[in-house]
Amino acid sequence: MAGKRVVVVGAGPGGLAAALLLAQAGLEVQVVERLDRVGGRNSALEADGFRFDRGPTFFLYPRILQEIFAALGRDLFEEVAMVRLDPQYKLIFGAGGELLCTPNLLRMQSEIARLCPEDAPRLHNFMQENRAKLKGFAPILESPMEGWLDLFRWEVLRLLPMLRPWHAVDQDLRRYFSDPRVRLAFSFQSKYLGMSPFQCPSLFTILSFLEYEHGVFHPMGGCAAVCERMEQIAREMGVQFALGEEVEEVLCQGRRAHGVRTRSGSYWADALVINADFARAMTRLVPSSLRKRWSDHKIASRKFSCSTFMLYLGVQGSFPEIAHHTIYISHDYAGNLRDITRDYKLTADPSFYVQNASITDPSLAPPGHSALYCLFPVPHLHESIDWRSHKESFRKLALEQLKKIGLPDLAERIVTEQVFTPLDWEAMEVFRGATFSMAHNLGQMLHLRPHNRFEELDGVYLVGGGTHPGSGLPVIFSSARISSMLLCQDMGVKIDWAPPLGFKPRRQEVLR
Ligand SMILES: Cc1cc2nc3c(=O)[nH]c(=O)nc-3n(C[C@H](O)[C@H](O)[C@H](O)COP(=O)(O)OP(=O)(O)OC[C@H]3O[C@@H](n4cnc5c(N)ncnc54)[C@H](O)[C@@H]3O)c2cc1C
Repeated sequence: MAGKRVVVVGAGPGGLAAALLLAQAGLEVQVVERLDRVGGRNSALEADGFRFDRGPTFFLYPRILQEIFAALGRDLFEEVAMVRLDPQYKLIFGAGGELLCTPNLLRMQSEIARLCPEDAPRLHNFMQENRAKLKGFAPILESPMEGWLDLFRWEVLRLLPMLRPWHAVDQDLRRYFSDPRVRLAFSFQSKYLGMSPFQCPSLFTILSFLEYEHGVFHPMGGCAAVCERMEQIAREMGVQFALGEEVEEVLCQGRRAHGVRTRSGSYWADALVINADFARAMTRLVPSSLRKRWSDHKIASRKFSCSTFMLYLGVQGSFPEIAHHTIYISHDYAGNLRDITRDYKLTADPSFYVQNASITDPSLAPPGHSALYCLFPVPHLHESIDWRSHKESFRKLALEQLKKIGLPDLAERIVTEQVFTPLDWEAMEVFRGATFSMAHNLGQMLHLRPHNRFEELDGVYLVGGGTHPGSGLPVIFSSARISSMLLCQDMGVKIDWAPPLGFKPRRQEVLR
């Protein structure tokens, strides 16, 4: 296949995984990335001897990346040291009570019993039913979804009674748990998709199941270390990287893309993989006249995920009593979510999440110090909130909120600090600062999400949180594998790393 060249726009986790697989398939791969380092939202932020993950901190369900590494003849756990966390996280409820969530199910039952004895034995049923749910759904997460035909497969239709698409996550959890705090312990994970558990489709109860069944991992050096290792391996395999070079236009002849233009020149390609945030990349890099289904107007009318307000704090002292991951769930959680996803306003008592990874990984801060990552879900950019005027007041509120989990005097301990608002996410080329891409409601999932083989332009393949299967590292890696497989199929390149659980191609696809 010598001479066939692919350009990958963006070196986020999706772009890197695709670059690795395509290089493994024997293609010539050029990655073009606007930042001066790889990882995108999953890159590291370093200052004054502290190292923070900019975005992802929960490394879940390593299976797909393990398989991608295995396809390269590598072992993920040998390439990147990882610790499986136990407890996985602590939940502190504004309504009263705490839960130290552990993957040890017997201990977890005792934890639940402290909040609600009747709910404790139901954990077993939750795990059993979600195990079956994941098994049924896994092929969908590993196959392209290009139209209704993909949905009307018998393998998909028979899942309907189990998936209950007409229910939201919280509603589904009522079948097991009566205490709203216990339900929150198994539903706050909808926030990983930037969604409310009261709206997020019930399929996504598999997110909390995944944590208990397959673990919550901390890669040493942070999740960014995974992307950094992927870059090193890709370079060893001959992938070319142009870092600090922004793509300004996708070059097309008619409906076929054949390269990209950057400020310093052009890269010609037989195929393009776009990892840059879908909505942002399309509206900036591809003329709207070339897009019908995803015109600027149609993209703008889609529902987007929430954004996040971030404090990355390098502080004096260590906090052994603060868990690696702590989630504070405000008293009026539902109201909090309405403010974020419906009313686009800031809340007086926001929920938040803090990562105190230094207790597991001393490499992240100088001795006697800690790297604290504090995330507050907030609305994506909207005319109702001007972050230029709200940034300082929200920072103050955030530091006040942190006292509620046992961090009383942080302001005096800060050695280094970075504040990130939705405006900063937008400046990182994230449409509306919606950190988790397009929302994952039923109207924007599966074949209704932008397709892996981009339906509007020939020779363009999408990877990352904006395409199928969705946002979150495991499915982003899956998108990279699906899209790379389609690209290779279209180019007639043989591969030996097709998604193992994906549906068998239909006859006409085999003949394509
Ligand atoms: C705050 C936060 C917390 C998260 N937490 C988790 C978590 O705990 N676990 C989890 O699994 N997921 C989490 N996610 C979601 C998701 O895993 C990450 O956002 C992930 O980094 C998205 O990967 P991606 O491949 O879609 O692209 P991105 O990481 O967005 O990478 C896209 C790349 O394209 C580049 N690019 C954009 N435009 C151009 C251009 N014109 N030219 C060249 N390059 C360009 C960007 O600079 C970037 O490097 C989190 C996300 C955020 C923001």
